[in-house]
Amino acid sequence: MTEFEPRPAPARDAGGHPFERDLDRTPANYVPLTPVSLLARAAAAVGARVAVIDGDRRLTYGDLYARCRRLASGLASRGIGRLDTVAILAPNVPEMIEAHFAVPMLGAVLNPLNTRLDAATIAFSLAHGGARALIVEAEYADLAAQALAELGRPLLVVAIGATEIADAIPYEALLDAGDPDYAWAGPADEWQSLCLLYTSGTTGDPKGAVYSHRGAYLQALGNAVTFGLTAESVYLWTLPMFHCSGWSYPWASVAACATQICLRKVEPAAIFRLIAEHGVTHLCGAPIVLSMIAHAPEADRVTFPQRVRCAVGGAAPSSTIIRTMEELGFQVLHLYGATESYGPATVCLAQPDWTDLSEADRYARMARQGVPLATLEAAQVVDPETDRPVPRDGMTVGEICLRGNTVMKGYLGNPEATARALAGGWYRTGDLAVWHPDGSVEIKDRAKDIIISGGENISSLEVEEVLMRHPAVMLAAVVARPDPTWGESPCAFLEVKPGTEPPTDRELIAFCRERMARFKVPKTVLFGPLPKTSTGKIQKFVLRDRARGL
Ligand code: ADP
Repeated sequence: MTEFEPRPAPARDAGGHPFERDLDRTPANYVPLTPVSLLARAAAAVGARVAVIDGDRRLTYGDLYARCRRLASGLASRGIGRLDTVAILAPNVPEMIEAHFAVPMLGAVLNPLNTRLDAATIAFSLAHGGARALIVEAEYADLAAQALAELGRPLLVVAIGATEIADAIPYEALLDAGDPDYAWAGPADEWQSLCLLYTSGTTGDPKGAVYSHRGAYLQALGNAVTFGLTAESVYLWTLPMFHCSGWSYPWASVAACATQICLRKVEPAAIFRLIAEHGVTHLCGAPIVLSMIAHAPEADRVTFPQRVRCAVGGAAPSSTIIRTMEELGFQVLHLYGATESYGPATVCLAQPDWTDLSEADRYARMARQGVPLATLEAAQVVDPETDRPVPRDGMTVGEICLRGNTVMKGYLGNPEATARALAGGWYRTGDLAVWHPDGSVEIKDRAKDIIISGGENISSLEVEEVLMRHPAVMLAAVVARPDPTWGESPCAFLEVKPGTEPPTDRELIAFCRERMARFKVPKTVLFGPLPKTSTGKIQKFVLRDRARGL
């Protein structure tokens, strides 16, 4: 018998297949996955390395782990345990990172709240999520007090910094009384719920996406690998940590043993200063954050020697903003995902043939949403009518669907919405895209944002992409305006660059005519600040209302 000939199958006996016999799961070879393990490991491996920097404060991995164990034991001593919801209302401070590890240590569920919401919506989340405790940072004490009054039932309140909330326990006092060696057990089952994240509600009522320990662990690793985080990395928090748990980067940074730099407010001067001061190597943000960096006033800019990797996502970045950031010395990585997918689900990976492309074509490719992260099982674009994958021709539009271990468990207390979102074994994103021959997806619009003019579909993103190429335009949003002849026509709302005179609408329309099919050219052009959601996305429904009233 040569070594290439098939071998006879191993003999089966009454005890079953040899590969299935006496090869059991034991604690030696099977541990439920949880992101908490990543911190325990980092503390054991690089305990003296700086894990978190906040102004003058520095926490080593040893400090961070001990503080998380103290917090977990402090919360446990107040009766918080398995599957209790612990909400947190805080800016990007170290305590926010601590909560992402301490609460799961107890098997409890962390519910990061969007700090830019009003008290009524916060109260809604606290009630809907069944919060038993609320950790609140001083900056949001008033908001929390109003929300608590509206909620009308007592909660365990833990206050970071000085607040006037009655009966609040000071965070540091809770930690002081806590046990730095607290023996956390972790979840018995990795499918156990870990986080509750309300979607930002760009397209409707907030829904509470539930994450599992397993999903968060895998997403942490997927993110670290995709973004190239290592123990040498310095990650700047330009993304709100309440948004999809900071796209899972609190866990990803710890998986890599990187250093996280806290930042309360996204301001260009602070971003440039921290990049230079701490040798920042990585940051993430919505296109609006990149735009803010790219158009920072001269006085706010500081030069730095390193090339900063900058992941953009949350909304479609135009090729213009990608190009501008690269010209400033940043290296841009385009990610796409949703709250429902623990943040990034796809990444625009450079393909070998890109080296032959012109600059303009390369930036256009970088604006594609790309291919699944290593830890996502699959992404596909399907025809909404037949539910079959569309051809990979870069032309046929369908809905992006995602599948894998980093898709949410479902929406809390909303079985109908869960069934709709996860129908047929795929997460239906509601994003309309084409599928290219190289396997990458490219979003054309959200289902609700597409403009139908004279029976033709117009991708608002495509029109915005062209408008953004005009030298005076900083931000563009195109929505449908009712049109007596065409049904709908594209209506453009534009923000101009600081210190720039707005061009006339005729000039912009002429600019578009030279660069796109006539039916896609906006018929109406308006200037002014664009309404944005708390996560920096343009509120197209507000603009649609405005366009309807014109
Ligand atoms: P909301 O749905 O309330 O805006 P999410 O933060 O979950 O809350 O938003 C996810 C959505 O954001 C996606 O479904 C998609 O429409 C949009 N999005 C995220 N990343 C990108 C991207 N890179 N390009 C285009 N759209 C994006």
